[in-house]
Amino acid sequence: MSAHEVVIVGGGLEGMSIAAALTRRGVRDVLVLERRTVGSGGTGKSSGIVRCHYGVPILAAMAWEGVRFFENTPGLGFRRTGYVVGVGPENVAALEGNVTAQRKLGIEVSIIGHDEVLAMWPGLETKDFAAFAYEPRGGHGDAYRTCQHFAESARRSGARILQHTPVAALVTDGDRVTGVRLADGRRVSAGTVVVAAGAWSTALVAPAGVDLPVHAVREPIVIADPGKPVGEVPVFSDLVSLQYVRTEPDGRLLIGNSDLSTPEPADPDRYLNRATDPDLERAATRFTTRFPGLPDVSFATSYAGCYDVTPDFNPIIGPAGPAGLFVAAGFSGHGFKISPAVGRIAAEMITGADLPDFRLTRFAEGRPLTSPHPYAGAGEMR
Ligand SMILES: Cc1cc2nc3c(=O)[nH]c(=O)nc-3n(C[C@H](O)[C@H](O)[C@H](O)COP(=O)(O)OP(=O)(O)OC[C@H]3O[C@@H](n4cnc5c(N)ncnc54)[C@H](O)[C@@H]3O)c2cc1C
Repeated sequence: MSAHEVVIVGGGLEGMSIAAALTRRGVRDVLVLERRTVGSGGTGKSSGIVRCHYGVPILAAMAWEGVRFFENTPGLGFRRTGYVVGVGPENVAALEGNVTAQRKLGIEVSIIGHDEVLAMWPGLETKDFAAFAYEPRGGHGDAYRTCQHFAESARRSGARILQHTPVAALVTDGDRVTGVRLADGRRVSAGTVVVAAGAWSTALVAPAGVDLPVHAVREPIVIADPGKPVGEVPVFSDLVSLQYVRTEPDGRLLIGNSDLSTPEPADPDRYLNRATDPDLERAATRFTTRFPGLPDVSFATSYAGCYDVTPDFNPIIGPAGPAGLFVAAGFSGHGFKISPAVGRIAAEMITGADLPDFRLTRFAEGRPLTSPHPYAGAGEMR
């Protein structure tokens, strides 16, 4: 049996960011166990959008920390295209409230007019929008490359990363988690076990008596050929028809869904890895109505990923259940942009800090993390 100060289950963005941050804080005896390959889970499917438009202040602040990390770390594929979010009349007060709160956090964001949006995104139908917010420093990056960057940084500072090494179970001794059992029967003991296994976390911690309210939800993504070049347009978040659009590095468009009113539960090991016909019809209707200036758009391909969703669409980061167990899961579709901050926060907590915002017990306490300026019709994604 081997023994380590910290064992991290899951080599996705969050597990790797935590490993890198722990080694930066001097905790070098870190072992990461990944059942497949680094970045092969939800991370490999991420749209990689970076924006700070969140109503929950700590999430907005973490995203802002992410913006500065992506700007200052070359080689991660970050493109500073800007980010625009548009809302209908019923959500103008919420947009203004959010922008005011974000500016207080130091985030560069302003309310802009229809003409300014049209100048950046020609061909957009803007008449059913009542207001827009613009973050010039938003954009999109590459989640897979970012995950590899964290892995490399952790390795360089002493962490070990074992791929193709599934964890079968947590090992407990009395009321303490003392390590993990691998699928091949070997045991690894640990001072702290961090479960950062994305949508797989719930099943992993359940036998230790931890009821993690994290559920996998399937999310289809469509890649479209715009029919003519659109240039370096900002990421566009459409809170009227509930879609988001960004460019791909090759000029195609990535179209995602922002309507989580009827989430589609999924098994993260067995879900349809493409858009269905109804998914495509919905995407086509929304896109062609919103972008009449791109009449020759055609869908090139599609795929699907799984969000690991919590009841308030915010992550769980902190000790959970038995002593020795720490969970970082339930990133609910936001985990790319906040991953640099997640590593820092988790490492601070594992080395003694008490940062209760993302505690698991908030659900049982009836105190979910919710936005003071929620958007009607746009669920908790904001
Ligand atoms: C379609 C899609 C679009 C997204 N778009 C955005 C976006 O635009 N912006 C944004 O900020 N976020 C976005 N996200 C969210 C973000 O990508 C995720 O929150 C983030 O990548 C999750 O990282 P993770 O490390 O928590 O999970 P994962 O990447 O899923 O990593 C968990 C890892 O654990 C491993 N594992 C599981 N079980 C075991 C086991 N028993 N033993 C060992 N290893 C195990 C898995 O193989 C996996 O590699 C999106 C997500 C999806 C799916």
